[in-house]
Parts: sequence; structure tokens; C-alpha cells
Amino acid sequence: MARLGSWIESHPEGIYVRPADAWIDPSRPKGRAWVTHGHADHARGGHMAVLATPETLAIMATRYGQQSGQPIAFDETIRVGEVDVRFVPAGHVLGSAQIVMEHKGERVVVSGDYKRRPDPTCAPFVPVPCDIFITEATFGLPVFRHPDTGSEIDRLLHRLHADPSRCVLVGAYALGKAQRIITELRARGHHEPIYVHGAIERLNQLYQSFGVELGELRPATGATKAEMAGHVVIAPPGALNDRWSRRLPDPVTAMASGWMRIRQRARQRNVELPLIISDHADWDELTTTIRELEPTEVWITHGREEALKHWCMTHQIKACELNLVGYEDEDD
Ligand SMILES: [Zn+2]
Ligand SMILES: [Zn+2]
Repeated sequence: MARLGSWIESHPEGIYVRPADAWIDPSRPKGRAWVTHGHADHARGGHMAVLATPETLAIMATRYGQQSGQPIAFDETIRVGEVDVRFVPAGHVLGSAQIVMEHKGERVVVSGDYKRRPDPTCAPFVPVPCDIFITEATFGLPVFRHPDTGSEIDRLLHRLHADPSRCVLVGAYALGKAQRIITELRARGHHEPIYVHGAIERLNQLYQSFGVELGELRPATGATKAEMAGHVVIAPPGALNDRWSRRLPDPVTAMASGWMRIRQRARQRNVELPLIISDHADWDELTTTIRELEPTEVWITHGREEALKHWCMTHQIKACELNLVGYEDEDD
């Protein structure tokens, strides 16, 4: 009998699905690309034909211009070559999907980037039992346990209210994290205007066009220090220590990222208020998900593979690492 999943090949530039002649999240232009979500390390421009959710295609269009893409709705099954393919929510960012493939009685799920905790900006992760689960492992070490999101947001609000002459400047990745922080603030009862860096505006509008409520947002550019005092300002991480931030009223520098668990990373960016808020599964979410899906094999990519591989083996699940290159989640 053929090896399980022998129709799926792992190459440095992505996962190749042979009976469909398709690539998943390829890092180089390909004829047929299936794209899990809009982050730049997964969604590249220049493919001949892209299959992705409507939200992901819209995100790719803002970044690369119109792509020759075919939208696929969640849970719609289409046949490509000899493979039945279906996209189901991954809970990572707006439009993010896992890709479920069936071929000759085997089911393989590619998680893409995912998380299990609630996120008001996207559909929650749907567990699909499978033979092979190809999982990310960005935070695949037991040290990574993300705290409750609400309590991190409360820490942010506490600092904001402690000194109304200052603002809290939150560094957040422009796609996903920025909009999630805004909606989490709203959910915690913060209805004041939020100031945003110009680099985030287009994605905010895109989220709003897909029905995500962000409340009143104002451009930070052109606003005075007096106007921004006592307010939250959101900017991409690169702007935190940049000249841009000098226009702000004595900012408390915060950063929202799973990497803020590591103090050294917070220090490197001169972050005064590290907020551990991640769009990736932490160690418990990774292992709980594998327990729930009960796959025969786990293929691990995209991060710290070794510890998760060991965990799988101690739980009688076959596991291996895929050496894909070009995926970077430093910005999470
Ligand atoms: Zn991502
Ligand atoms: Zn990623």
C-alpha cells in the first residue's frame, strides 16, 4: 500500500498537491495557487490562477492589484483534477481558511495559520477530523501560553486611563491584529475615537466593507498632540520607534504580539507595555487541536517543530517536519 499522503509533496517553496497540480501558499509564482489567507508570507502576487476566499482575494487585490482569482465560499466543495477541495475557517484573520482535501479515500487538512480563541473579526476555527493534519507551529513550545485576551486589553485601558495627558501607542500588524485590537477595545466598552496610522487605513476600510464594526476611527496624521492625548493610537510595529511617533503626546509604547512573552523582544523594540495577544495557536491550542482531530499523522511546518513532533510521538501519533522556507511570523 502506498504511503499515507503520497500524493502531497513538500517543497521548499510550498506544498504541492500532485493530482490537482496545485500549490498551497507557494512562495513563488505558480500556475495554480490555493491561498489560505492574506498575510504576505502566504499570499504572494503573480500566480496564474488563485483559489481563495472572497476576503483573501480582496486583501490580495489591495496589496498586489487585481489577481486572476476564483472565490470559494466556506464549506463549498469543488473538484480540481482528482481532488475534492474545501475551505473551512481557521480563525486567524478575516477570510483565513484551512484547506481540506480528499483524494482516494484520504483526507488531508492544511491548517494554514490558525488560532482557537475567539476573535470578533473572523469566523472561528472549525475542527475537521482527518488522516493527515499539516499544522503550523509558530508558538510550538510549552513556554508559549497566551493569556486571556480580555485581561490584556484591560491592562491597556488601565494604562490609558492612568494619565490622560499621554496616549497609548499600540504596535499591531496591519492585517488582522490592528482590527482585532480595535474590536476587542470596543468589546471592553471603549467607545472613544481611536487614532490610526495611514498604513492601516485601507485594511480597516476593507474589514468594514466585510461587515466588521470598528467604531469611530481618525487618522493620526494631521491630528494635534492635544487631540490625541488620552487616546489609543494604532500603528504598524515598524512605526513604534520611527520619527513618525514623535508627533504623539508622550506615548506609552505598547505592542500586541505573541512574541511579547519573550521579554528580550519587548526590550529590543523599547516596548513599555507588552501585550501578549496573538493570532496564532499557543502550545495548548496546538496540542488540544491535534487531540481533537485524532489524525494518523501530523506534518509540522512554520516554526518550532521539534517540541510538537516530540509531543506527537509521545501520544502515539506519527509526526514529521516539513522544511518550507519563506514563512515568517515575526510580526504576529
Ligand atoms: Zn498569517
Ligand atoms: Zn504564517
